[in-house]
Amino acid sequence: MACEQLHAQAPHAVFLPCPTQGHVIPAIEFAETLASQGFIITFVCAEHITARISKSHGSGLSPSIRLIGLPDEEQDIDQDADIFITMVKIIENMVPAFEQTVNGLFKNSKESSVPPPLCIISDFFLSWSQDIAHKFNIPRYVFFPASSSCLAVMLYLPRFIEEGIAPVAADVRDIVVPGLPPLDSYDLPSDWRQSVPQEWREYAFPSLLKIHESSGILVNTFNELEREAIDAVRTEAINPNKLPIYPLGPILPSKFFRSESIDQETLSETEKECLQWLDAQTPSSVLYISFGSLAILSMRQIQELAKALDACQQQAFLWILRLPPSATAATALPEGFLSRTHSRGLIISTWAGQLLILSHPSTGGFLTHCGWNSTLESICSGVPLLPLPQFAEQFNNSRMVTEHWKVGLKLQRGPDDVAESGEIEIGVRKLMQGHEGRAVRSRARELKEEAASAVAEFGSSHAALQAFIQAAAASHT
Ligand code: UDP
Repeated sequence: MACEQLHAQAPHAVFLPCPTQGHVIPAIEFAETLASQGFIITFVCAEHITARISKSHGSGLSPSIRLIGLPDEEQDIDQDADIFITMVKIIENMVPAFEQTVNGLFKNSKESSVPPPLCIISDFFLSWSQDIAHKFNIPRYVFFPASSSCLAVMLYLPRFIEEGIAPVAADVRDIVVPGLPPLDSYDLPSDWRQSVPQEWREYAFPSLLKIHESSGILVNTFNELEREAIDAVRTEAINPNKLPIYPLGPILPSKFFRSESIDQETLSETEKECLQWLDAQTPSSVLYISFGSLAILSMRQIQELAKALDACQQQAFLWILRLPPSATAATALPEGFLSRTHSRGLIISTWAGQLLILSHPSTGGFLTHCGWNSTLESICSGVPLLPLPQFAEQFNNSRMVTEHWKVGLKLQRGPDDVAESGEIEIGVRKLMQGHEGRAVRSRARELKEEAASAVAEFGSSHAALQAFIQAAAASHT
């Protein structure tokens, strides 16, 4: 059969992720999964992000994924503005260009071998894509790159607004979401707090309410990890429109589960340096420290962390240190820290593929902000966590890690929310050397196996993926 004919029959989805690293990374991996199942994907995102994907994936990107960059309008954005207000501007700037793109895909399908799109898959934050889907009479599926308990909370927003719980005041306890353990204000997304600018809520709340109008939700989680929360989001109390829920995670590169050897050609110089350094360490001996793509610790927290590492004298560590623009490692770290720890620590300040580090046999613990991708990547690598959450839903992830799944140890924080060096030192010692550390490492390794089984053929996530593909294909005319 001619290639054009094959294309003409293939299901075509338009994928629109939220333009931040933590949302784009699982989105492009999920696009790859769909491409491997015969889909054509038009992946639409801000131009600087599609350019980054082209560079990092290069010829490794499936030929069935077409990247379309929407114009970056950064010149209109006030660099000193609040991060939330900036985000709203960036997202709203995308609307007309996205609509034009979808329009073009329908128009051009008559002359091209690519069929018109059968659905939009878009991030939960980009609610306006729901209206565009309505306009073109195709379904929108929500891509939810966080946990199912976070999804339950977000779907329950209408009740929170009704009951005056959202926007969230500090120190509210025993908040009820049916099917979840009692929550407190820290378990709700930090951007729902009263202290966050109202402009953000004016964008975010209607966006979340619109999830209820979609045709289904793809969640980056798996049944064996979050059974209760997945059951909860399927109940009428939380999901009155009975939207299908597809827990098809963990969404990670497929080669991760095949334990394929690393292609040296694709590594950056920093990644080569990290791997060489890890190769020289003993198994499970290294504490990996990173706080994701957005969070920057306060200077005080950086100092406390460095003091703790100084005190843990034998402890090897690999620290991805993100600093405020005005700081340098020399000014942010205690005097003499770099020379004192040089023989047992590697500090890097640029991007390095985290999965490479987490899946290296020398990595034995992860001091993390508990972003959802980092949490899943650590669990899937069998590495226990020491959470130091910063914002968004990281506090809830952290609580699940330490109290529910028991794959990490709790780090105490002072009244000003800073974890002091003494507490970090205790946490690191327990995690890396103590019997509590051994227990959480062993549980993380069990969950690693369960994650691999979930995505394998006949696994729960594989079944959810097939169910989604069938549902999406049913809208193929
Ligand atoms: N990441 C990475 N290298 C870095 C920093 C982050 O590969 O130096 C990746 C990490 O593996 C994860 C994502 O960026 O996939 C961060 O997502 P997460 O949800 O953990 O946190 P966020 O950045 O959204 O706060």
